[in-house]
Amino acid sequence: MKTTKSVKWELENGLTAECKITVTRDVDDDIAYADGANIDLGKKTYESIDVATYIDGKYINTDNNLELSDDKRLINTDAVAILANKIGIKIDTYTAIKKAIEEAIAEATTPEYTALKTIEDAKKDAEKRAYNIATERHNNLLKQGLCPKCGTFCYGDCES
Ligand SMILES: [Zn+2]
Repeated sequence: MKTTKSVKWELENGLTAECKITVTRDVDDDIAYADGANIDLGKKTYESIDVATYIDGKYINTDNNLELSDDKRLINTDAVAILANKIGIKIDTYTAIKKAIEEAIAEATTPEYTALKTIEDAKKDAEKRAYNIATERHNNLLKQGLCPKCGTFCYGDCES
């Protein structure tokens, strides 16, 4: 689902700034395009977060989300983040925009999206765990002087 939110605040020069937040969370067909034959891989989740910044109604730029910044330009200011790569924002505005993003995400989340995302996350977790176990086994064999490929003291003979 697609949801939008708006946050407005006044800049120090008196102009009005606005963030238009658009969050999309969808379940799409996962299709591989192969030589004209489309292979249906099932369903996958899709998410996008756009934070579009306007000053006095004029479009400036769009960010994909908003994070606290340690940008050098913010040193000796009371700004904590940068919008559209040019507007420093204070903690109150940052908090208001983050809250609006969270609300937009919550409203864009359908039960179908949550169900599929849970499965995707579990799959990713399982893959990560399998990878960690394989890496650990490999490192243990190396530590014992064993060949990680065949698990014996072949000293590279199994490669030939
Ligand atoms: Zn070996």
